[in-house]
This record gives sequence, C-alpha cells and structure tokens, in this order.
Amino acid sequence: MRYCTRCVMPDTRPGSVFGADGVCQACRNFERRTLVDWQARFAELGSLCEKHRREDGRYDCVIAVSGGKDSTFLTYMMKERLSMNPLLVCVADPFTHTGAGVHNLQNLQETFNCDTWVFRVSADLFRRATRIGFEELGEPLRFIEAAIYTVPPRLAVALNIPLIIYGENAAYTYGATVEDSCSAQPFIVAGHSSSGQKLGARITDFWCARGIPLQELNAIAPTSEEELSRVGPRRYS
Ligand SMILES: [Zn+2]
Repeated sequence: MRYCTRCVMPDTRPGSVFGADGVCQACRNFERRTLVDWQARFAELGSLCEKHRREDGRYDCVIAVSGGKDSTFLTYMMKERLSMNPLLVCVADPFTHTGAGVHNLQNLQETFNCDTWVFRVSADLFRRATRIGFEELGEPLRFIEAAIYTVPPRLAVALNIPLIIYGENAAYTYGATVEDSCSAQPFIVAGHSSSGQKLGARITDFWCARGIPLQELNAIAPTSEEELSRVGPRRYS
C-alpha cells in the first residue's frame, strides 16, 4: 500500500490516482483551485439562475441535501444570495443517525425555511444491497450512493423543476479524475459514476443478476437522457 506523501491518503481508496512523485490526484486538484476564476464561475451561476428563476412561486430548483456543510452552503447560496426557491431533496439511508446529523438537517430546513422531500430506501432492501456491495465491490454504500444521483433528478423531472443543484464533484475533489466539470449529468446517466461502467450497461442489471427484482430498483433506475435534457446545464459555457 502506498500513502500520498502530502496528505497520507492510501491508494486503496477506490479510484485513487497517484503521480510518480507519490502525490495523490486529490492534492493536485486542490492545488489547481488557485487557477480557477471564481468570479467568472459565480457570474455563470448567476446567469443560470436568471434563466430558471420563477416569479410565480413554484419551486425553481432542487437541491440534493444530506444536511452537512455542502448542503448548508448550497442552500444559503441559492436561496439567500441568488433568490431562488429551492425544494430540498434528501435521500436517506436506514442507518441509525447521529444526534448531530439529525440536528444538522433540521437546522438546514429551519434556518432557510425550505420544504424538504425525504426519500427513505426500504431497510430490508438496504440490508441486502449493502451486503452485496461490500462482498462483491468492496463498496457497501454503492446502492444508496446510486440513489443519491437518481432520486433528485426523477423528482425534478416529475415536478417540472428546471434546475438541479448538487454539492462537490466528489470524483474531482477526492482525486479519481483530473477533469473538472460543473455537470452531474454524466453521473446521473451512468446511474452512479464513471466507475459504474464496471457494473454493466445498466446499473439495474448488476443488482437484478444478484437476486434483487426490478420492483425493488425504482430508487436507482436511471432517468433517461431525454428526460434529463429538460434540466440543465450540461457544461461550463
Ligand atoms: Zn494527497
């Protein structure tokens, strides 16, 4: 096992990329933050909101939230700074939640006065899927993480909400890719992430082949590209 010479992250983390100098891609990507024109990006976000902001009171964006730091900052930015009217969508797992976690989600809803749609995966299904993910992929949370990229878009399409806001690009932030992107659409279409390709053409095939019937896979059945074409954006302009 190798450890990053800068941050000591081990290369056993799935998707890790290490340079010849022993520095991990997450550290390299972190360095590149100083090269980003943040003002230009904020202006781009502003014009995106301008395009989708609704004056008739309907929700104009979905924010996928857990209650943590990203969720809180995103909700603050969209509602307080950019005057959007968000619906928060939380894909919850059946684990016993810590007092801090429960407090954070409640604090988020109350501080920003937002409606929250909580989607809870069946506990029985979760137990089986977590075991399969652990034993076959080494990733116990693979199922619920797929749902995080599937449920908010499905709701946005169903409720005709034109914009979906996600937190960090985890693949970039944690160094599984060198490609920075503002769009979660590739992850959504893949059913989870680029590494989802190893699960076959459709993510549901993987779980079906392991005895989980289609009736239990609604939470991760990917939204089609055609449906997603109604919510944007695709790329930085
Ligand atoms: Zn590192």
